[in-house]
Amino acid sequence: MKELIIFKEGEIALKGLNKRSFEDAFIHNLKHRLKKFGKFTYEKSQSTIYAVPQSEDIDLEQVLDAGSRVFGAAALCKAAVVEKDFDTICKNAIEYIRETAELSRTFKVEAKRSDKSFPLKSPEICAELGGRILEAYPHLTVDVKDPQMTVTVEIRDTSAYIHGGNLKGAGGIPVGTSGSALLLLSGGIDSPVAAYMMAKRGVRLSAIHYVSPPYTSERARLKVERLCEKLTPYCGDIAFYCVPFTKIQEAIRDNCPEELFTIIMRRIMMEIAQRIAAEKSIQALVTGESVGQVASQTMSAIVCTDAVCRMPVFRPVIGMDKTEIVEIARKIDTFDISIEPYEDCCTVFTPKHPKTRPVPADVEAAQNSFDFEPLIAEATQNTELKVIKQG
Ligand code: ATP
Ligand code: MG
Repeated sequence: MKELIIFKEGEIALKGLNKRSFEDAFIHNLKHRLKKFGKFTYEKSQSTIYAVPQSEDIDLEQVLDAGSRVFGAAALCKAAVVEKDFDTICKNAIEYIRETAELSRTFKVEAKRSDKSFPLKSPEICAELGGRILEAYPHLTVDVKDPQMTVTVEIRDTSAYIHGGNLKGAGGIPVGTSGSALLLLSGGIDSPVAAYMMAKRGVRLSAIHYVSPPYTSERARLKVERLCEKLTPYCGDIAFYCVPFTKIQEAIRDNCPEELFTIIMRRIMMEIAQRIAAEKSIQALVTGESVGQVASQTMSAIVCTDAVCRMPVFRPVIGMDKTEIVEIARKIDTFDISIEPYEDCCTVFTPKHPKTRPVPADVEAAQNSFDFEPLIAEATQNTELKVIKQG
């Protein structure tokens, strides 16, 4: 029996005149994501995208799993494609559900008929096909409230589709339809979640990471690259920028008041990020900050950090507490890597008593007491780029 994967649009279906460009972006991302499984052709019709495998050896369960992480579909399923003839539908449905039917005791049939010229209405399809399933599998009984097996028949424009119910899709809108941003990616729990949240809204992400060898190790950097790899099923390929930050941190330590170390460091991180973003025509920055979580994320500290920013800074986890962030980190499978105990440059030379209410003018004056510009220019110049490809 011929099988394919059906993707049902969510938010895209509500778009107006530009709906097509969203669909094309979704198909483009899907193609990129699914090509490693084998060859597919893609069709679209009635707010649905069909990925049709071109050979029989493709593992469609794996395709479903990968497809459920591509933003743009509300639901997806694997389905058998059959001719729109009722007897053919019944015969194939009975065959298609055999394995599940043998393991189940209760079932129901659901029917959807978007082709209104089909001679049977949905309730008739359910009743008639339900009867034939009962004949074929006499151990089954019908349970419309809580069935162990659901058999869904969809009569669409060109064919009928039989499947066992929808999986939840990734939701959101396709990556690449909302512009681009540069994510400040640490090895922690929050910033990978911030990446996921922005990608869900269609933003194409690059990542920037600051390292301070020998205070931070090569393994800490590799950990962040592994986090990028974990993000690619959602974000697509990620351009990963790695900034040598040691000299800057030493200069802060040697020239600035200790209580302002962190806030000055964060301002310089933002400065370097926006220079690289501007050079690459990236439109905004993203961080994993959550208001009040630590001293550098109080409202006053954020005001001081933003004072140096010339482009929008998005903080998609700003209003979330740690439990909520962790829940997403587990879902996208970054949590276990994030909690590996490697040091981040933020934990190098941390002040004992950071100022939780820094005053912008004081921070500005402290930062201006030393000329950081040559070091900032050098670090920006020596930033390394590596593209992390989706696996
Ligand atoms: P996270 O869990 O994302 O590390 P956090 O709660 O540990 O966040 P901080 O260490 O204060 O908070 O960092 C706040 C934000 O600053 C991070 O979410 C990230 O966006 C950015 N950041 C921190 N350290 C680095 C780094 N070494 N390289 C790039 N960005 C960083
Ligand atoms: Mg951190």
